[in-house]
Amino acid sequence: MAQELDKWIETELTPKERVTRAMEGKPLDRPAAVNPTSNINVDLMNLTNSPFPEAHRNPETMTNLAEAGHTILGFDTIMPVFSIIAESVALGIPVDWMEKDNWATCRGVLCHAPEDLKFPKDWIKNETAVAVLDCLKELKRRHPEVYIIGKTMGPWTMGYHWFGTENFLLMSYDDPDATLKALHIMKETTIEFGLAQMEAGADALTVPDHATGDLVSGEYYHKFLYDLHCELSEAIPIPLIMHICGRTVDRMGWIGETGFASFHFDSKNLPNESVEAIGDAKKLIGNINNPTVLFTRGPEFAYAEAVRAMNAGVRCIGPECAVPLIAPTENLKAIGQAVRDYPTLSEAKRAEWEAMAPEYDIMGTVIEK
Ligand SMILES: [Zn+2]
Repeated sequence: MAQELDKWIETELTPKERVTRAMEGKPLDRPAAVNPTSNINVDLMNLTNSPFPEAHRNPETMTNLAEAGHTILGFDTIMPVFSIIAESVALGIPVDWMEKDNWATCRGVLCHAPEDLKFPKDWIKNETAVAVLDCLKELKRRHPEVYIIGKTMGPWTMGYHWFGTENFLLMSYDDPDATLKALHIMKETTIEFGLAQMEAGADALTVPDHATGDLVSGEYYHKFLYDLHCELSEAIPIPLIMHICGRTVDRMGWIGETGFASFHFDSKNLPNESVEAIGDAKKLIGNINNPTVLFTRGPEFAYAEAVRAMNAGVRCIGPECAVPLIAPTENLKAIGQAVRDYPTLSEAKRAEWEAMAPEYDIMGTVIEK
């Protein structure tokens, strides 16, 4: 199968053409470096003078930082919604903004039942939501040849933010009907923010819905989220990229049938088994490990993991989730290097690199070979 996909075209594509074609399964000049979630670190904040938390809420700071993922790291995509809190702030959920080296997070519990869910009128006009929309417009203006990705949180993640993670998970065991009712109410903000970002110029949207491998089973995914995810992909008419962390091969088959263009997958799933589970390599983006490879090991390990994913037929390569904020820049650059080199690497070289790539258990610990 890898050989079939190795018919590289001669003409150099723009980043936008490359990513679009990769997600459609069309021939490429080379694989693409894609970040559905943040690829920004403290180093880039310093280089562009655009630190967190300003970069979460000031459109110009956000734009200057986000574009560094393309101009400095060499990715084919730009994704400016670094955190998971943009719509939550706009909806009135209390947030800790944190500092440069830490992620903004939601805190507190606003709801105990679906009836408590109340969205402020015109929440989408709140300055934090507008900052995202203005930033997308500006990125489109500055980089029309680059693939711009927005982000709208899925209803399961919003459940954690409104109800508190533990309470929400408990409700899903104790009262599945109330949980489903709440999910259907919360999906409305996913759609509204998604459509607004589409109008602002996003080429695609990441939809993080943290029914993660360690908290929620594949059965659970099917029971609570499969239908909802089908609805989301009907309601938002641009490519959607589903993001769920952890070991998820048990639900990839369903995710592949939701209508989502792609699934952003974690390194706890090997590329080969993931391609088999989802049924089509064009539906996968990933899956370079964050905590071990991008954070603590050298660039050659990021390169090796990128080659392993490309050997399996994956053509959109990127970090598995938002990269650690103190990950070294040279490790992040190795992803762009790997996709540029790949068409010219011999079979033997590809196998050699793959042998270097670590494997992880369900907790993310490296399995010693
Ligand atoms: Zn994640």
